[in-house]
Amino acid sequence: MKSRVGELKNISGEQFDLCVIGGGATGSACALDAQLRGIRTVLLEAGDFAGATSSAATKIIHGGVRYLEEAIKGADLQEYHVLVRALHERVRMLENAPHLTRKLEFLVPSYHWIDVAYLDVGLKIYDWLAGPGRISPSKYLSQEETLRRMPDLNQQGLLGSVAYADGQFDDARYNITLVQTFTEAGGNTLNYARVTDFKREAGGKISGVVMKDQLTEETYTVCAKVIVNATGPVSDSIRQLATPTVHKRMRPSKGAHILLPLDVFPTEDALLIPKTEDGRVLFAVPWGGRLLVGTTDEEVTPETELVVTKGDIEYLLRHLNQYLARPVTPDDIVSGFAGARPLAGSEDGGDTKKLARDDVIEVDSASGLISIMGGKWTTHRAMAEDTIHCVQQALGFPHAASQTRNYVLYGGKGFTDDYWNKLCRQHQFPEVTTRHLASKFGTAAEEVLALSSENAALLDPILGGRPAIKAEVVYAVRHEMAATIEDVLARRIGMQLYSWRDAIQAAPVVGSLMAEELSWTSSFTGAAITHYVEKINHLLDAAGLSRKRSPASMTRESAAAQR
Ligand SMILES: Cc1cc2nc3c(=O)[nH]c(=O)nc-3n(C[C@H](O)[C@H](O)[C@H](O)COP(=O)(O)OP(=O)(O)OC[C@H]3O[C@@H](n4cnc5c(N)ncnc54)[C@H](O)[C@@H]3O)c2cc1C
Repeated sequence: MKSRVGELKNISGEQFDLCVIGGGATGSACALDAQLRGIRTVLLEAGDFAGATSSAATKIIHGGVRYLEEAIKGADLQEYHVLVRALHERVRMLENAPHLTRKLEFLVPSYHWIDVAYLDVGLKIYDWLAGPGRISPSKYLSQEETLRRMPDLNQQGLLGSVAYADGQFDDARYNITLVQTFTEAGGNTLNYARVTDFKREAGGKISGVVMKDQLTEETYTVCAKVIVNATGPVSDSIRQLATPTVHKRMRPSKGAHILLPLDVFPTEDALLIPKTEDGRVLFAVPWGGRLLVGTTDEEVTPETELVVTKGDIEYLLRHLNQYLARPVTPDDIVSGFAGARPLAGSEDGGDTKKLARDDVIEVDSASGLISIMGGKWTTHRAMAEDTIHCVQQALGFPHAASQTRNYVLYGGKGFTDDYWNKLCRQHQFPEVTTRHLASKFGTAAEEVLALSSENAALLDPILGGRPAIKAEVVYAVRHEMAATIEDVLARRIGMQLYSWRDAIQAAPVVGSLMAEELSWTSSFTGAAITHYVEKINHLLDAAGLSRKRSPASMTRESAAAQR
């Protein structure tokens, strides 16, 4: 990616074929698909790329076991199509970004024989629907085998489990990599660029956008023949900006996750809790050295603050602890996050957990705006492919096929599972650091490490005992358009997810490295650090957690660091 200042010059006042509003998974995938088909595209994002729902997912690449049950029980053909498409897209997501994804087995523990039979049959159907896209066959595991793989599972009454395979991914990095791949293909993009209005022709058709740079408050106009609205849960605001009389379609639903030290439940597999008291599924998944537990499901309004609350924690731990031999307490929690699912519903109400995770493409005949709503991360590529078909028609361009089905994303070319080992040998780094670099940047890790030729100190860790190095901050600013401390710690290097309290400690180091790159004054840098620390403290307060580490969690952390 180019610098923000350079991109502003390239974008303002320019004429594009297509302007995509929203730099989450859906918008970034649309921009990439269009640019690869030869459509000159600009992507505008109001905050940071992946700053909204697209970094708040459970990070599972899945068809959706729950949707299988709904498709069968409700004899719902629509749900069935959503499921089959997602099952096939899983494989493309895994193959197109091998550095950001992996296959993962899910164990569903069973305490009644009837559940074993029900799950076994259901998951065989899941395998069968996946056809050639099957990852590995589902199977029944005895009690002994289940406990070998999940030694801290509640053994009381345990019969065994049913295991099936899906995938797992780094959502924030996947999103940034989509944008990176898009700009490598010649596309233009800007984050912190909020669309506030449309430019209109005499007949009411839109022919461009007015966007406000959120960092300077300046306003610019960008011209485009076609405009795609990919703003996720807030899609209605852009739809109504184009045509105020359109009805609202979005039914956003909040989902919250917490992260725990992995040794509260050591496992390499994911645990699926098939039924909570209110009929939902919960996951406890090893992710980035932590146990990621989620999610809740609660319909919200656009005004609802998307933070993990005490109530979310109480709900998640109440259900998780039924499955653990050693219960966890809120004191064990190291971080968390919440997001809004962009569910596109009919206007007649109903429970959000029953809304299909399908997507809807709407072409507004009055303004010409094309909105892509709903869907899920796993189907982002297919959603983009369909949307860009509509864009081609609107542009009157001859049909060109999508290139993204087998298009390897930035950092994925030449990547192998033991790539970290090669970095270890070449750079004499500890294994944790090279594994971290390989999993965040893939083969582009070489570009990060090359920055040390300017200053060898960039190879030092940001925080002693943690794998991320200072060069990543410089790389994030120069090549990934990071503009705030949170952009770096939350989405570029993932430290905010690993530990809120680590992130607070790392903020001054990250702030001073960014200050050098972006020529921040010392007072601006101080304010940026304070702002970030206050934000994390607010997250701790909302979750009802202490701002300081408890002695028990510190002991656990240092034991984990020794291993
Ligand atoms: C709790 C939870 C768990 C999930 N787990 C999974 C999972 O495990 N697997 C899976 O496949 N899916 C999962 N999903 C679904 C998936 O995360 C979403 O479907 C996907 O991220 C939606 O992406 P999006 O780009 O449509 O929306 P967003 O990521 O919200 O992106 C929309 C973007 O538009 C921008 N924007 C808004 N207004 C403007 C404006 N005026 N100008 C410019 N930009 C604007 C926003 O800033 C935002 O970045 C989960 C969702 C949630 C909430």
